[in-house]
Amino acid sequence: MNQSLFLESSPTVISKSCEWVGNPQEIKKAEAKPQGYVSLVGAGPNDPDLLTLKALKALQKAQVLVYDRLVGKEILALANPKAEQVYVGKRCGQPSMKQETICALLVKYAQAGKNVVRLKGGDPFIFGRGGEEALELVKHHIPYQVIPGITAAIGCAASSFIPLTHRQVSRSVTFITGQVVTGALPAWAGLVASGQTLVFYMGLEKAASIEQGLIQAGLSPATPVAIIGHGCSTKQTVITFELVELADMAHQQQGLSPALIIMGDVVKLRSQLLQTARVAELQTVFAD
Ligand code: SAH
Repeated sequence: MNQSLFLESSPTVISKSCEWVGNPQEIKKAEAKPQGYVSLVGAGPNDPDLLTLKALKALQKAQVLVYDRLVGKEILALANPKAEQVYVGKRCGQPSMKQETICALLVKYAQAGKNVVRLKGGDPFIFGRGGEEALELVKHHIPYQVIPGITAAIGCAASSFIPLTHRQVSRSVTFITGQVVTGALPAWAGLVASGQTLVFYMGLEKAASIEQGLIQAGLSPATPVAIIGHGCSTKQTVITFELVELADMAHQQQGLSPALIIMGDVVKLRSQLLQTARVAELQTVFAD
């Protein structure tokens, strides 16, 4: 573990010259307590081979592992076998544990002196509430680090052979959560810049309003779209179609989870890129 990281993260008790400042008695108490810390770790899109080495090292050293629904068994199996594993995701149709409860757990374990790994699907800072958890740790003066992971958009782009940007086709890409999109036109208008790739996380349930909002804001109904289910796994499925069919296609795919929507002219490149692509290992089920 990089010690300097944790020295830097305690500015309230350590002066710039690294001498102790503040109430000596309180500092003694703090020194006597074992100092726990939290690593907010991105597990990537659920392919163990796509973990970073840094994430793997953190998993191997963890004493407590607090993990989500999108983290599979194969990744958990790489963790320190002695680590206490705490599941905080959805359970049999019941909602996930409340965010405040998860934050309180992280604080509790760290204050008990544990090396805690908070393992999340993809990247902790992309629709992963990593920022919220980090703020809570800061509030409690708990040292922490963030280890990035391959976010679903990046993983699925590679595994479905859809480049998110491509010269003369797309100059920018926007990651959007389907969970908060509303019918408000100003929001849609901002997404309709020409040559832009749009990636919707958690978008399947909101497909009808996404289709309607974008078309009303001026995006061509013929814009190519892909839905990628279980990206980067052997269960991966990819279907491609036009924006005007989005609501229907999403309806047909109801229940597919996790699933990502990639939209824009870059989707058209897929059929060409597939020509010599090694898809055998991924078993892409749906034909284009
Ligand atoms: N922090 C995560 C995103 C969490 S939000 C990340 O960076 O990837 C959960 C959403 O991510 C899912 O509803 C889905 O839209 C998307 N997602 C995550 N993993 C995926 C996968 N393997 N294939 C397709 N979509 C995925």
